[in-house]
Order: sequence, then structure tokens, then C-alpha cells
Amino acid sequence: MVDKIAGPRRVVIVGSGFAGFTCARRLCRILGRANEDTEVVLVTPTDYHLYTPLLPDVAGGLIDPRFVAISLTDTLPRVKLVIGKVEAVDLPGKTLTVVGDGQPTELSWDRLVLTPGSVTRLFDVPGLTEHARGLKTIAEAVYLREHFLRQLELADYETDPAIRQARRTAVVVGASYAGTELIAQLRALGDAYAERRGYDPSEIRFLLLDTADRVMPEVGDRLGDKALSVLRDRGIDIRLQTSLKELNDHEVVLTDGTVVPAHTVAWVTGVTGAPLLAGLDLPMERGRLVVDTSLRVPAHPDVFAGGDAAAVPDITNPGKITPPTAQHAIRQGKALARNVAASLGVGVAKPYRHRDMGLVVDLGPRFAVANPLGLHLSGFPAKAITRAYHTFAVSRGVNRWAITLSYLTNVVTPRPLSTLGLVDSGEASFSGSEGIPEHH
Ligand SMILES: Cc1cc2nc3c(=O)[nH]c(=O)nc-3n(C[C@H](O)[C@H](O)[C@H](O)COP(=O)(O)OP(=O)(O)OC[C@H]3O[C@@H](n4cnc5c(N)ncnc54)[C@H](O)[C@@H]3O)c2cc1C
Repeated sequence: MVDKIAGPRRVVIVGSGFAGFTCARRLCRILGRANEDTEVVLVTPTDYHLYTPLLPDVAGGLIDPRFVAISLTDTLPRVKLVIGKVEAVDLPGKTLTVVGDGQPTELSWDRLVLTPGSVTRLFDVPGLTEHARGLKTIAEAVYLREHFLRQLELADYETDPAIRQARRTAVVVGASYAGTELIAQLRALGDAYAERRGYDPSEIRFLLLDTADRVMPEVGDRLGDKALSVLRDRGIDIRLQTSLKELNDHEVVLTDGTVVPAHTVAWVTGVTGAPLLAGLDLPMERGRLVVDTSLRVPAHPDVFAGGDAAAVPDITNPGKITPPTAQHAIRQGKALARNVAASLGVGVAKPYRHRDMGLVVDLGPRFAVANPLGLHLSGFPAKAITRAYHTFAVSRGVNRWAITLSYLTNVVTPRPLSTLGLVDSGEASFSGSEGIPEHH
């Protein structure tokens, strides 16, 4: 049965990431101020908004996973939450199907906002989906941390030196900012563990791979080179123009033929549009939905899209689309709210325009790089800006407080080293946690 409403109109937003969450929050405010009686519904598989930029800190055990999960009940009290996944959209009929814990539900909509984000981009590497894990969800971040720690624990009483070394080796594939932040945090976690157990941290081996010829192209050559040298000084083996050929549960084979015994492998090589998009039969560009500068889907005036899921034209950079970053997704969320409200007769629509403000990249203890507004910062100033930026950007006071306390606690005591075993390997798999179909 279709859940239709007789009275007010309904806006349905798909996904509670940066774009969907910001859109829902802003739209309620705009409509509330105008006394406009429109229902705002948010369909989301989780009852929280995830602050993904701090997932490397969760994987490194610096921050508790709850602190990066912003409760929707607390932050969006006027939004109707439907917990589940949109499985199908009937564009002419203006309905969609949500699958949650119970029976599938059909929802009608007057305006549809598609912000289902992105998932890890996978390649045909034998063994990848079975033995590597991504870093897009809490389950993946928690699993990576606990799996790595467990390997270190098992290594301590392993008598075969080759197996011990394999357990004490972690490989991260993808040296853009997310992969590089991850390996820096795993290094810090490994160091803390080795110091507590009384052995030399250099016995834990870290390998960072990328097909590109530099790390973090997003921050430019100067900061990329600086990061490369600091990470190499920390004993991270960085192999550029190299990737994975295949892997199994105890070793990886690199594209240059080198075999590296390793029990922990993270795959952080970039993203592609959420699986939902492929079934919509709408024009796509590079795995993202085509939209105009007002974030409208062409030929469907009641359908809008933004964030990682949409190929938004970059007015400040003609011919290009905006990169898949939270920086853009948040601002597109605001533009979506404004333009959806305008389509309901409240306010005026505006094209989306945002000039990139640069990036902050936290690279573990006492180091970061950042290029805010074209400045090139590294070391302590970058660290201070990075921490301040993230803490400020988290959209709920109590989460901000908890994150700040975690950072302060880490100044006086090492990060926690125990595991709870709450996420199993299947739950943290690309299909189990990100919903990527098995045969992608
Ligand atoms: C480890 C990591 C670090 C990052 N660091 C930074 C950074 O420092 N700075 C920066 O600017 N960006 C960063 N990013 C990128 C940033 O996270 C993304 O660009 C941003 O999350 C995109 O927001 P979004 O709302 O489009 O999508 P998402 O945040 O991916 O949210 C999409 C939401 O839609 C939901 N969804 C998906 N399918 C469905 C469906 N069928 N039905 C209902 N809901 C659905 C998902 O569960 C999710 O909640 C980082 C990303 C990662 C993974």
C-alpha cells in the first residue's frame, strides 16, 4: 500500500550523509519560517549522520565510533525519519519503495531529493572483496582497528617468524587523503601497541600503495612531498605507481610481482555513485547523476540531487564537475534546501556556486598538512587548523565535546588497545556494510 498524504505536500530526501542531512535541516528551517505546511521525510538506513572525515581516527582507535555518529533524532526533531533503504523509485508515479526491517513500504512524494552518496570503487582484483576492507562506514572502521589489533595480539605468541611478520604487516591501497590518513593512524596504533608490549615499533610493517606517482594529489606537490617524507621517516613503506594484483588471507601480490605476507589490507582507492543510482534509468556522468546548476535532474522538474551522488557542474571551473567532498556536499545540501523550497513557492532558487577552500589532512601524531584558501601549511599550524576545523564542522555540540575530550585524553594517555569484537568480517565487507552488490 502506498503511504500517501491527503493534506500537506511531502518532500522525500534519500540518505542522511552531508548533503541529505544538511538539506533536511535547512529545509525545515526555511519552511518553518514561512509557515509552510510541507512534510519533510528522510529515508536512511542508519539513524545517524556519519562524520566520515574522522573515520581514520576511529580506525586508529583515537576516537570512539559513537562520537562520529550524529543522532538524527536529536538534530532533526521535525523531520520524519524512515529507517531503511530506498530500493526502487517510480519517477512517473512519484513513489518509492523503502526496504527496512519489516515489509517494504511505498512512499509518495511531491519533491524527491536524491542524496544517497557514494560507495568504494572496486576493481577486478582477485581476492579483493573477500580479504580487503574499505573505510566508508563505522562497521569498516571498527573492523579494521579490531582486526589489526587482533593480528598484533596473535603475532605475540606466534612461533613461526614468517607468520609473525605477516600478522605484523598492514597494507593500505590508495594514497589519496583518506588512505594516507588511515595508514598514519594505523601506524600510531601499532606504535602504541608495540611500546606497551615492549618491542620495537619498527617490527610492525606498513605499506601504502598507489598507481599515481605521488601521494595526495589533492594537496599539491609541495605538501604532498612533505607528507611523503614525514611518513617515510615514520617507517611507512610507500610504493607509488604500484597497486595490488591479487591477495589472499595471508599475503598480497603487488603489480610489480613482489609478494608481501600481510593479514590486514585496506582498500581506499576512491568512490563511485551509490548502487541505487544505476537502477534509476537517469543520465549519469562518471557514475554520478547528471544535474543542472540548480541541482535539478533534467526532464524531471520535481527531482533534485546533490553530494557525491550527483555530477554537479562547477560554475567556478567551467567544464568540470565538483569533486566528491564533504565540503561540496554540505553546501549542496543548503542549495538543495533553498531550491526545493523555491519549487514549493517559498523563496527563490539559485545556481550552486562554491569555490573550493582547500583541504585539511591529519597525518597522525603531531603532523598534518592543510591548504586552506591557497596557503600551504604543515606541522603544528596545520595540525591545529585540522583539529579545529573538524571539531567545529561536526554538527552536534555533544559530539564535538566528546571528540575534543578524546584528543585531550590522548595527550596524557595512549589510545585504548582492547577489542570488543562487535563487528564480524561479513558485516564489514563491501556488500555487508556499504551495500555494494556481490557482482559489482
Ligand atoms: C575516510 C574518509 C575521509 C574523508 N575525509 C574528507 C575530508 O576531510 N573532507 C571532505 O571534504 N570530504 C572528506 N571525505 C569525503 C566525504 O565523506 C564525502 O564527499 C561526503 O560524505 C559526501 O556526502 P554525501 O551526502 O553526498 O554522501 P554520504 O556521506 O556518502 O551519505 C550518503 C548517505 O546515503 C545513504 N544511502 C545510500 N543508499 C541509500 C538508499 N538506497 N536509500 C537510503 N539511503 C541511502 C547512505 O547510507 C549514507 O548515509 C572523506 C570520505 C571518507 C570515506
